[in-house]
Amino acid sequence: MPRPDRRLPPPALRAPPALPGAEALRRRLYLAATALGSAVLISVWVLQWRQGTAEPFVRFGYPAMLVMCVWAAAWLLQGRSLLLAERVVFLVNAVAILAQLGLGLVTPQTPGVDLTSPAYWMLVAVSILSYLIYSTRGALWFSAGFYLLGVALPWGALALRGEGLGDQPALARVQLTCGAVLLLVYSLAWYRERFMFEHGQRLMLEKLANTDPLTGLLNRRALYAAVGRLLEDVQQGESGALILFDLDHFKSLNDTFGHNAGDEVLSGTAELCRSILRGSDGLGRWGGEEFLVVLPGVTASQAGQVAERLRRLLEACPFAEVGRVTASFGVTACRPGDDLRRCLARADAALYRAKAAGRNRVETHWDALPVPAGTSELLGRGG
Ligand code: GH3
Ligand code: MG
Ligand code: MG
Repeated sequence: MPRPDRRLPPPALRAPPALPGAEALRRRLYLAATALGSAVLISVWVLQWRQGTAEPFVRFGYPAMLVMCVWAAAWLLQGRSLLLAERVVFLVNAVAILAQLGLGLVTPQTPGVDLTSPAYWMLVAVSILSYLIYSTRGALWFSAGFYLLGVALPWGALALRGEGLGDQPALARVQLTCGAVLLLVYSLAWYRERFMFEHGQRLMLEKLANTDPLTGLLNRRALYAAVGRLLEDVQQGESGALILFDLDHFKSLNDTFGHNAGDEVLSGTAELCRSILRGSDGLGRWGGEEFLVVLPGVTASQAGQVAERLRRLLEACPFAEVGRVTASFGVTACRPGDDLRRCLARADAALYRAKAAGRNRVETHWDALPVPAGTSELLGRGG
């Protein structure tokens, strides 16, 4: 047996899949972050300006970043593209970090990046952002590259000033802490990607287990569950109904035009029916050329009307190769205390009557009518 492929999806720069409601949450988080960031930028700028100690980066970089925060907040409040806002913020912050790190090299007389510099914490923040925008691998490359710059540039600046590793033990500590935080961020992102991948696999397997491969409709297993849910609702006093329908003379259609043409009729029928049913209705292939429609919140007479619409639609849409195809329909309402077997036996009895009465018609099993003896044997035949 081939081993399951456990690789993660490849493209390095693909955004990770979003969890439901994640975008709205991200917008709110970014708005909070821009508000907080603006407050910090303004206070540091004013404080340093008053003390007359404003470094070049604070003097010129902070106002530029404040403009970015205001722009991003306005952009997000207008409900505009989150992705664009993320990329602009990401880019501006990346440039800001580089500017801070490079300042020490350009102007060796100023301390450049030192213990009080927010460059490392900005690096952590931008790395987190990169894990949200890009794939885990892409973001890892980014944060590893920037971290290496964050280590190399300040030490380069110190070397230019004639200082060595031993002169700045606290700086080495800050850099190591930052590295550890980045590693933690990477681990969380890796775990998240793994979780999303496995979650996606599980959903796919679930879908496969509940889908008929030829028509893409619910299969019998999924129909059992759908009817089960319907019966629970009916037990609570809601209405609900079933339509069982079977294509007419399908065997002779297969014999005349071949099995492939028969298969196309089956998938075409599924497509037609799907086009007029509501999203809340369940449509599945009960087996062979028999289909079951599960209708929550619907009475027997309403279900009869739905069946009549399906019958007319099928009759009015001939198939390219085989021409007109018809079906016979059996309808029943579900009643409190029903189980799947009894409910389906009534639908099957009505379908049997439709066949006996000449096919291409709808018959409803009204409650007053008894289920003919032996009808339930038809339930297991699936087509
Ligand atoms: P009736 O009008 O009484 O329903 O007649 P019928 O010929 O449709 O009924 P019968 O049950 O005798 O024939 C069903 C046929 O459906 C027989 C079988 O070969 C065919 N069938 C079942 N599953 C498939 C399938 O997946 N593809 C195709 N092409 N044919 C199928
Ligand atoms: Mg048939
Ligand atoms: Mg049949």
